[in-house]
Amino acid sequence: MNKRILVVEDDVAIGNLIKMTLSTQKYEYAIVRDGQSALQKAISMKPDVIILDLGLPDMDGIDIIQKIRSWSQTAIIVVSARGEESDKINALDVGADDYVTKPFSVDELLARIRVALRRNAIDGSVNQEQPMFVNGHLQINYLANTVLVNGAEVHLTPIEYKLLVVLSKNVGKVLTHNFLLKEVWQNYLPSDIPSLRVFMATLRKKIEEDPANPKYIQTHIRVGYRMLRYEGDSMRGE
Ligand code: CA
Repeated sequence: MNKRILVVEDDVAIGNLIKMTLSTQKYEYAIVRDGQSALQKAISMKPDVIILDLGLPDMDGIDIIQKIRSWSQTAIIVVSARGEESDKINALDVGADDYVTKPFSVDELLARIRVALRRNAIDGSVNQEQPMFVNGHLQINYLANTVLVNGAEVHLTPIEYKLLVVLSKNVGKVLTHNFLLKEVWQNYLPSDIPSLRVFMATLRKKIEEDPANPKYIQTHIRVGYRMLRYEGDSMRGE
């Protein structure tokens, strides 16, 4: 069955661009132009992915995400205007999976949709209580608290390990700096972001083949980080 995509976008030109993009793929899709219609359609259509413009005429995009998240884990990709950094960060914090910034390319949008669909497939098929996480050459044993890269154990500090676990349990999803700080340190300040960067750098040195060109952990500048599914040379997502 084709995957279903719900597009919520009040800008006609951008709506048409997305429509053209989706019509070249084997996706079923619907476009609505306001928040109320989005909520109704999300219930009747049961989309696999929702592409949600944050600036809608009748409702705040953040409210829409919160309402949808109260009953559905469907993937949500938010569309935000350039310069509205805080909007997309708030959207991620209330449960959006990913974002694209206007103007975005067709390829970028399709890549984000593929990541979101893979994340659904993983969540749907994997028992969340699995003690082992395997992603390419990376293995985490959540019970033994061990991490293997290419079959060899690597030694992580407790904070590096916690960071890696949070990223792996949300593979495919962009996690904001604040979310990571909250998960890893119980007491934190937004000013702790530089130390988060330091721990991320040391973690990458231990798990990435080429830390300058990371395959597992993507940086989203001013937003946060995401672990991607490793797909060898054809790794995509950005
Ligand atoms: Ca808009």
